[in-house]
Amino acid sequence: MSSVSLEDLNFTAIDFETANSNRASVCSVGLVKVRAGQIVDSMHQLVCPPEDFCDFSPRNVEIHGITPELVAKTPTWDRVYSLVRAFAGEDDWVAHNAPFDRSVMQESSSIYDLDWPGGYWFDTLQASRELLTLSTYSLPFVASHLGIEEARHHHAEQDALQAARIAIELARRAGAPTLEGLREALASSALPGRKERTTPGDFSSLAGISPLEGEVVVFTGKLQTVTRKEAQSLVVSLGGSAKGSITKDTTLVVTGDFDPRTFRPGAKLTDKLEKAQRMAETGIPIEILTEVDFLERIQVTRDALEAATRAQRASTRQNWLPQYVSEQARNSIAPEGDYWSWLRNALRHPNGTSAGGDSCVRCGSSIESKSPWQYRERHVCSGDCNEALKRAAKRAWKSQGISTPPSPTYDSGWNAK
Ligand SMILES: [Zn+2]
Repeated sequence: MSSVSLEDLNFTAIDFETANSNRASVCSVGLVKVRAGQIVDSMHQLVCPPEDFCDFSPRNVEIHGITPELVAKTPTWDRVYSLVRAFAGEDDWVAHNAPFDRSVMQESSSIYDLDWPGGYWFDTLQASRELLTLSTYSLPFVASHLGIEEARHHHAEQDALQAARIAIELARRAGAPTLEGLREALASSALPGRKERTTPGDFSSLAGISPLEGEVVVFTGKLQTVTRKEAQSLVVSLGGSAKGSITKDTTLVVTGDFDPRTFRPGAKLTDKLEKAQRMAETGIPIEILTEVDFLERIQVTRDALEAATRAQRASTRQNWLPQYVSEQARNSIAPEGDYWSWLRNALRHPNGTSAGGDSCVRCGSSIESKSPWQYRERHVCSGDCNEALKRAAKRAWKSQGISTPPSPTYDSGWNAK
């Protein structure tokens, strides 16, 4: 093993759990701080999901064990966010399946008009796929392969801890002294053992492509959230093909057989999965996913596709910024300098809460009933349209000389210590 110095390996690892499939429904966050390649601090906080939007899906409760009762008296994300920002400071973020956690951070924050944090998101799932050859890249399996001790899967702090340990170990093995160095090592094809295949978890350069293109997907076992037929047509709609049995052409095996909490190294596999695992061991690029991991990836993909569609629609709607945002900004008075009250007053749609089915002021898409956005008095359909509305409004206010209260800042508590 190389003796690369990790003195400059600094980051914050993060993991979220959600109440349901909507990314704004954060119910738990775990953070782990790494300094000089060492774990130095951690925090865990239960979060009360946004009001009017705290339906816990039985499936999610089964996975993480967090119930409405457990979070009833805990702070909402707008309160927790300042703790998270104080903890993380200006760090880069590390997460296993980072597009999911980034999307939870952004959607949850946008609901409360909190500025999204800066920093790069490093994905240990994608990195593991590129650096290791395994039959599954689920967090417990990657950890086990790297000789990292077991932790409780789907507990936010424990998952953040495992992601941090994985990033540290990958940096050590790749001889990369920093996160940036590890990034570069991944980008360079010179790295030994790097596999030549697409990474289904990487949706960073999406827009108009089919995320499952080239993937041949086989479902096995009893799926919990969708029927096998639905799952198969989902795959086809995302550009992949769905097959009934595992062959040498199969690239993804999605299994409903496993309790996502107990799918870990040493678990007894069905014949089908054992076959897939043996194929992976002989170097055939086949990957086993739990249903939960698969759906998380699909959801993130769908989010990104929808965001691309919304941006496309918005680009054909010139001058979509409603006139009332300037009028209201002139008249909005901030009670005791409360920035968020001021902003809400300025951006409020004249009709208040959406009835559901109204058009988004930015992209024109219909505002989904029972989505968290239906309840904001703004008539936007999503986090990205909400952020676009705020950006456009701020530009308009500036050019019209409308004064606004100062935006809030977040403490860099840990770094200031
Ligand atoms: Zn929209």
